[in-house]
Amino acid sequence: MKVSHFINTIIEEDIESGKHKRAITRFPPEPNGLLHLGHARAIITNYTMAKNHGGYFNLRFDDTNPVKEDISFVEGIKEDIAWLGCEWENLFFASDYFNEMYQRALLLIKRGKAFVDDLSAEDIKKYRGNLTTPGKESPYKNRSIEENLQLFIDMKNGVYLDGSKVLRAKIDMTSPNMNMRDPIIYRIQRAHHYNTGDEWCIYPMYDYAHPIEDAIEGITHSLCSLEFEDHRPLYDWVVKYCEMEKIPRQIEFGRLIMANKVTGKRNLKQLVENNVVMGWDDPRLITLSGQRRRGVPPEAIVDFINALGLPKTQGPTEIDMLDQFVRDHLKTSAPRTNAVLDPLKLIVDNYPEDKVEYLEVENNRENEALGTRKIPFSKYVYIEREDFIEVKPNKKWKRLALGIEVRLMHAYFVKANSIVKNEQGVITEVHCTYDEATKSGSGFNERKPNGNIHFVDATHNQKAEIRLFEDLILDFKDKDIPFIEKINPDSLIIKHGFIEEGMKVKKGDRFQFTRNGYYSVDKDTTKDNIVFNRIVSLRSSFKKKAV
Ligand code: ATP
Ligand code: MG
Repeated sequence: MKVSHFINTIIEEDIESGKHKRAITRFPPEPNGLLHLGHARAIITNYTMAKNHGGYFNLRFDDTNPVKEDISFVEGIKEDIAWLGCEWENLFFASDYFNEMYQRALLLIKRGKAFVDDLSAEDIKKYRGNLTTPGKESPYKNRSIEENLQLFIDMKNGVYLDGSKVLRAKIDMTSPNMNMRDPIIYRIQRAHHYNTGDEWCIYPMYDYAHPIEDAIEGITHSLCSLEFEDHRPLYDWVVKYCEMEKIPRQIEFGRLIMANKVTGKRNLKQLVENNVVMGWDDPRLITLSGQRRRGVPPEAIVDFINALGLPKTQGPTEIDMLDQFVRDHLKTSAPRTNAVLDPLKLIVDNYPEDKVEYLEVENNRENEALGTRKIPFSKYVYIEREDFIEVKPNKKWKRLALGIEVRLMHAYFVKANSIVKNEQGVITEVHCTYDEATKSGSGFNERKPNGNIHFVDATHNQKAEIRLFEDLILDFKDKDIPFIEKINPDSLIIKHGFIEEGMKVKKGDRFQFTRNGYYSVDKDTTKDNIVFNRIVSLRSSFKKKAV
């Protein structure tokens, strides 16, 4: 996939100038949750840049914070990335480099570039100053190299209590960049790590670990989101003073932010843990697993990400834009089928009681290769409740009404004559008559019907549970109320409808429901209960919402 953006230009220049022969990139997720659409930007960008420039792409789990991380997320993240089609060359774990990071820290101490600090966390914070006040040096900064070495080795050997000492880089307490004010690079933390067990009681900080990881792997271009921009001087400092042989270059791009959607693993976790959603893969979430379960084709996500380019700005992007790519992908690839979500029974009074006709129908008018199928038609059919109204309200009404004739798609013209209502006044049956001469394909053209509506036969069909999704959070923009208190009680709408008799469904299959939208077969489907997810409606409701 050809793309052009500022990072692409930088890499091309680096190759032209001979600085690098190829681009080697990585995606470094922290296994503290599953990935979302924002991560897709980072994954696809890293993957595409390596692939387009003769190199490769590593998947590296940035697992340097054992308290927040969990092995269960590792497999899920791998599945998400593979689903996007972004194959990684190597699978690495930052924790595999703990020893090398430790050795490099000893080197920093030997070069007089790091010291062990006994200040409390609170004092370290106080001494740091703020954006307008320079920081103050720690009273422990001038310890001798020998003393620092011994203290750090003892930290590693478990001599000191958690939090009682830290290792800090010696940089500049007066730097306008707060990240450069003698940042902490190691802390004591007795925490079990899923990979290294209880081997370590000191753990490196992200800003120290990350550049070392990149350099060890020979990453040429370390691409990350904009919030790391202020960390770049520290990144370069670590690479330089740890005397890394290979020098990676960090380049930042704008985060992808989806309008009105919960993002951030921490927030998503809150929804999952409070059982607000069905899990990380709830189709209402913009997690990659949620989008996958919903039925979004991965190619649509890739196209969406590439179409957005790589801006340095971080304005919100509407989900409707992704929806459009989903429609583009499914328009010709998904077979079309009739489904009725809100059934209303139509009785064709002049059609023989026991007759069933099988009508030949194309599976996708825009893709002949998908072939044809036969659908049943009898005296009893279901139509969508919204396709009938007692009195035709105006010229725009192109559906059924009393005294009005429409075509039942692929079958005959029917004219509604009378209705039956229940005690609550709800219409339960529409009685009509059909005209045999109007059969679809017969070439009949003596009069035009008032529209073309679809149906599912009422005697030969399958039942289905159909799930529709609305916004999960109401008034998302109102930041005064936490999102967890603004859950839309109607974000999941379950319909009990009918699908065609002959429809064969397999979990994950995608269909277009005639005149309605794109649907996929959900993983909750069992032999007795077919469950569909609405991926997107046929047309965008964006304009409607904007008014
Ligand atoms: P979150 O805030 O959602 O939990 P994170 O930044 O903590 O995300 P990491 O696992 O630390 O997630 O990130 C892995 C990589 O993904 C980082 O390089 C980060 O720059 C990138 N990334 C995360 N969120 C986005 C986003 N919304 N848009 C683009 N890139 C992102
Ligand atoms: Mg993070």
